Order: sequence, then structure tokens, then C-alpha cells
Amino acid sequence: MFELSTPVQNLYLVGPQRAKLLKNLGIETLEDLLFYLPRNHLDLSKFTPIAELKVNEWANVKARVLSATSFRTKVRRLTMTQALIEDDTGSITCVWFNQPFLSKIIKQGENFIFSGKVSLRRNSAKNGSASGGKLQFQNPIYEIEKQEQIHTARLVPIYSLTAKLTQKQLRTIIKTYLDKAVIPEYLPPQILKTEKLFPEDQAVKTFHFPSDLTKLKQARNRLAFDEIFQTQTKVLQHKKIRQLQSSYQIQTKNLLDQKIRSLPFNLTDSQKQALKDIFSDFSKPYPANRLLEGDVGSGKTIIAALSMLLAAKNGLQSALLSPTEVLANQHYLTLLKLFLDDGINTGLLTSSSTKINGNPVSRQTMLAQISGGQTRLILGTHALLEKTVQFKNLSLVVIDEQHRFGVQQRSTLKQTSRAHLITMSATPIPRTLALTLYGDLDITLLNQLPTGRLPVKTKFVPEAKRADAYQFIKKQINDGRQAFVICPLIEESDKLGVKSATAEYEKLSKQVFPELKIGLLHGKIPAKDKESVMLEFKENKINILVATSVVEVGVDVPNATVMMIEGAERFGLAQLHQFRGRVGRLHHQSYCFLFSEDPNAGTNPRIQALVSSNNGFELAEKDLEIRGAGDLYGTQQSGYSFKIANMTNLDLVARSKLLAQQLLEQDLMLTDHPLLAEKIKKHGVIHLE
Ligand code: ADP
Ligand code: MG
Repeated sequence: MFELSTPVQNLYLVGPQRAKLLKNLGIETLEDLLFYLPRNHLDLSKFTPIAELKVNEWANVKARVLSATSFRTKVRRLTMTQALIEDDTGSITCVWFNQPFLSKIIKQGENFIFSGKVSLRRNSAKNGSASGGKLQFQNPIYEIEKQEQIHTARLVPIYSLTAKLTQKQLRTIIKTYLDKAVIPEYLPPQILKTEKLFPEDQAVKTFHFPSDLTKLKQARNRLAFDEIFQTQTKVLQHKKIRQLQSSYQIQTKNLLDQKIRSLPFNLTDSQKQALKDIFSDFSKPYPANRLLEGDVGSGKTIIAALSMLLAAKNGLQSALLSPTEVLANQHYLTLLKLFLDDGINTGLLTSSSTKINGNPVSRQTMLAQISGGQTRLILGTHALLEKTVQFKNLSLVVIDEQHRFGVQQRSTLKQTSRAHLITMSATPIPRTLALTLYGDLDITLLNQLPTGRLPVKTKFVPEAKRADAYQFIKKQINDGRQAFVICPLIEESDKLGVKSATAEYEKLSKQVFPELKIGLLHGKIPAKDKESVMLEFKENKINILVATSVVEVGVDVPNATVMMIEGAERFGLAQLHQFRGRVGRLHHQSYCFLFSEDPNAGTNPRIQALVSSNNGFELAEKDLEIRGAGDLYGTQQSGYSFKIANMTNLDLVARSKLLAQQLLEQDLMLTDHPLLAEKIKKHGVIHLE
């Protein structure tokens, strides 16, 4: 028997050369090898009598070898092996190229199983053989009938491969070691029994080499259970441990009443509920982990801002993290303005600028003010997460557009694990994922837009109507409104016809709207200029802003009413919805015009979806439909992957959650379940911490 931790290069049949190939597949130990599950199975369990073979079908025959020879072809000097095989119903020729050793294996008189695609012989009756008809097998898989079949005559596992490794090689290696190793059971026997699950060892072995489809299904059930149960255990353990940690209690009593009354608008009921949820988090002794989920324009920023103000009034620090500098800067200006009269020291820290209360300061001063606790509201990009940034009493961290932060960046937040955490996103999470991956999260939905908003009118505009669209924009601007023009690229490239922001900027400012003020914004513009362009746009000193996806998330210029998107088919649906969310943020009727170099883009399913719905949640579902569940939002960005489990299986999710909960109640640190502890450690990635 072999230890599961044995490195694969030490295994017979593998060795250093193949170990390198296996590493490409993420296989380093024997355990990795055994858990390298097939992506599907080829059903080769049924045999076809030779007389019934049909051209172009994949078939499986049991046959005796009548003759086999290897020779060199005249034309291309290839080695060709030819075998004539027969069963009770007829005979057929098999040919293989460049496998001269074959004539030693496929020997006359032996019984083999052959499987492969039946093709037509170009030149039948060669070698003077009358039999064989016109059909032949080219490069069929073969396996001697006496042995246990692993490559033919069964449900044959098909693996994802890497160059220089064949199905047959990998299958042989895996099969060999499945027979030599035992996977110890990590689940308590009670769970196995009540859930009627295969033991893991049996499940893995069966999943590779199932005897029939029913067994395969049972194996799949067990492995799917494992994926969800392990994730649940990890997530819930994390939640329980968090709840044992102490955090800052933030007093809420009446501290915000006056501020809320002085806002230029009334909070929506959803916003009020969100604040209530957050206040209740703040009254608890352990750090909160709350997701604030609301469609674009639902007013998440003010909730973040008020929560931060509350912390500041308690003498505590809070930080707001944005995925882009443009957004960090915008939030900074918003908070400065909102809290002008509150006398709270507010800082901005990004990789290119450091400011306190609107004035540039040195990075050193900034860091000193943060570690000294004088600066209470701290805004910035991921630059805030660097180790050099030390807080005095960081009580609250808000992450805006959390889906834009990589898993890695989020886990560096760990240094702030005592702080309450609020993440904000406009991207809805499917319910199953909310229960599993995000099981550690409390979720507040902002399912209401502020009153007086008109749905944005969205149209796909054919090229012939472009001039009309420009006329329309001009009219909007004459009425005092503003417009965005989004382009897929920054600079002109050789990608024929793809609009670049720089070229559009030139065209619009020189030819189309010479009398208007046009601005340009993209990732390569120096931070200072970005700031001033955004400021001028915000103050309506720029009429039209030509930009790349830098304005995709968060940008809030409520006076803008037109969002014109060039090369619309190049953007994802969520992205398009985000762009559109930049307009319609006040009571003005707003418009989203979609353009494309491709005249047929109007039938593109994403574009059609966007035109037909304004609702982010509906669109997310459409998106899922269009892209397929394999791409399910959240699984990738969370760092978890589900290979087997069907994430729409709510019942399984709910049941495994309950079991994980019961188990953790008995044994939070999993000291009595070391194998399970080991398994969930391998999940490696922690979400949203
Ligand atoms: P998002 O949820 O997309 O981040 P924002 O927080 O940027 O949305 O809010 C969008 C716009 O709506 C902002 O201009 C904001 O000032 C405004 N707003 C927020 N709450 C309300 C409200 N209750 N009534 C009216 N306008 C609001
Ligand atoms: Mg926002």
C-alpha cells in the first residue's frame, strides 16, 4: 500500500519526466492523482457485430486476430501495421501508423477488444485480401480480452490531458494506483449512514471506473456531497470563529439622526433597513461580515458613508476601499462634502495620491496620521492594504464593488480581522452560492431604487442612424445634460474597426462636436489628470466624456443622461449593465445607445438582453443562461471550484449545511476529525476576509 502523500515522481510508471507533465494538471502527490477525476466517460460497454458496423460511427468490437503485419509504406515511408480481425459475423481491417511494436502485441489467434471510429478504406482489397469489405478501423484502441478492461468494453474514463500525455497512459497510471491505495474515510459513520453515501474510497474508485451508470451516479452523489459539505464546513467554521473574536462595539444611539435629516433626499425604505442591519451588527461584540447587495444606482454609498460617520463619532477609524482610483477619488469628494460640518479628519490614500481633508500631504504624514488615529475616515484603493499602513483603531472596513477585488487582495485584509466588514456589490449572487460560498455572510438587499428614477431607455443603434444619435446627444447637451462615450480600446490598434477612446476623442472634438467640450479618460492617463478630468465632468465643465471601462463601476455624475457604448458586443452583460448604470441617477430621462462595427450585433443575445431589461437581477440570470452554469458568477472569484456538485441542488446544499453545523457544534476546531480538517485546509482560499 502507498501513502497518499507520496510524490508522483516516486511512483513506478511515472518518474521525473511524466511527473512534470502531471504537474501541469495539478497532480503532485498520489492523492492528487487519485482525485484527478475524469471529465466524462465514454460508453464502450456495448459491442457491435462486425457485420453491423457503419461508417463514421464509434464502435466497439470483440474479435480474433486473423493476421497482423507491419511494413513501411512506399510513399511517405511510414510504418504501417495492418491487422485483419473477425468475429462470428464478419471481418474488418485495422490499421495503425508509426507503432511498429504493435505487430508484437496484436498477435494472430489472440482475442482482442478494439474500439474506434469506423472509416472507409480508400483502397479496398489491398494485399489481395478479399474480405474486409470497404470498412476499416484507423488507429483503434485495443485491449487484450483476457485482462480486466480499462480502455475498452466498459464505461471508459476520459481525462483532461496535457501535451505529451495520452488518455491511455494517464488511465493506466490512475488505474494502477487506484488498485494499490486506500483512501481513508473522513466522514463520521453516522453521516455516511443517514445520507446513504458510498465510502469515499469506493466513490473515487467507482467514479473513475464505474461498472455501470447507476454506480457512477452513486459515486457522483458522494463526491458532490463532499464538495459542498467541505465548503460548508470551512465557511461555517470561519463564521463561528469570527463570532468568538472580539470587535469594536459602536454606539449608534441617535448619533446620526440629525445627519440623516439634513441629507438632500429621504432614504429609501431599503436604505433604512440596511442601516438598521448595520446598527445591529455594530451592537454585537464580534466583527460583522455583511454584504450589501443592490443594483446600480440603489444608493449604497450613502449607507457606507453613514456607517463610517458613526464609527468616527465613536472615536474610531474606518476605511473605504475602492477598486479604481477614479472611484476612490469620487468617494473621497462625496464624503468630504457630506461631512463638511462634522469636523472629521478624512484622508485619501492611493498609490498616486495622499490627501487629508482635500489637501495633498506626504505619504509619511498620511501614514503617521493613520497610525496615530487622527485620520478617522480613510478612503483609497488596495494601496490601503499594504503592510506599511497601520491603523490605530480600525473598527470598520467597507469594500465597494467587492467583486472587483481579487481573492488575494481580499485575504490580505486579514490584518484587519477585528474590524467589522461591509462589502458592497451590484452583482447578485445566486441563492445556492449565497448559502454555500457566502454562508459566512449576512446579506442585506437594497431592492429599491430611490423614488423619481425613470428607467433608462436602451437601444441598439444601426450605423445608418449614427448621425441622428449625435444630433440627439447635442440636443441633450443644449438642455444642460451630459454624455458618456465608451470605447473598448485605449489606443488605435491594428484590430480593424475596433473603436479606441483616443481616436473617438479626436473625432468627436474636431469633427462631430467642435463647439462642445470633450474630455478623455482611460487607464493610461496620469492620476492627476484623471482627477481633474473627472472633476470637470462632475462640475459640467466637460459635456462629453470619452472613456474606456475605467468608468465601468461606481462613477456617479447624476447630470449625465446619455451612455453611448461603442463596440458593445465586446463587453460582458454585467459590464454593459454597469455602464448603463452611470446614467439615470436623477429624475431626468436617460438613454443608453449601443453601437457595433458588426451590423448583426443587434441579434447578439447579450445586447438583446440589455435592451429588454433594466433589472440587474434579471440580467444576471440571463447571463447565467447565456454563459452556462460552468461560468457561474462567484465560483471563480471566490477561489472555490465545484467540479462535481450541481450548484442548483438546493436540497443538497441545505442538508450538508445542517450536517456541517451539527458537526461544528460538537467540534469547532475539528480536533476529533483530523482528516476533515486536512481536507478543508486544502481548500486553501478564504473568501471575503
Ligand atoms: P450605487 O448603489 O450604484 O453605488 P450611489 O450610492 O452612487 O449608487 O447612488 C446613486 C445616486 O443616487 C447618487 O447620486 C446618490 O447621491 C443618489 N441617492 C442615493 N440615495 C438616494 C435617495 N434615497 N434618494 C435620492 N437619491 C439618492
Ligand atoms: Mg457604487
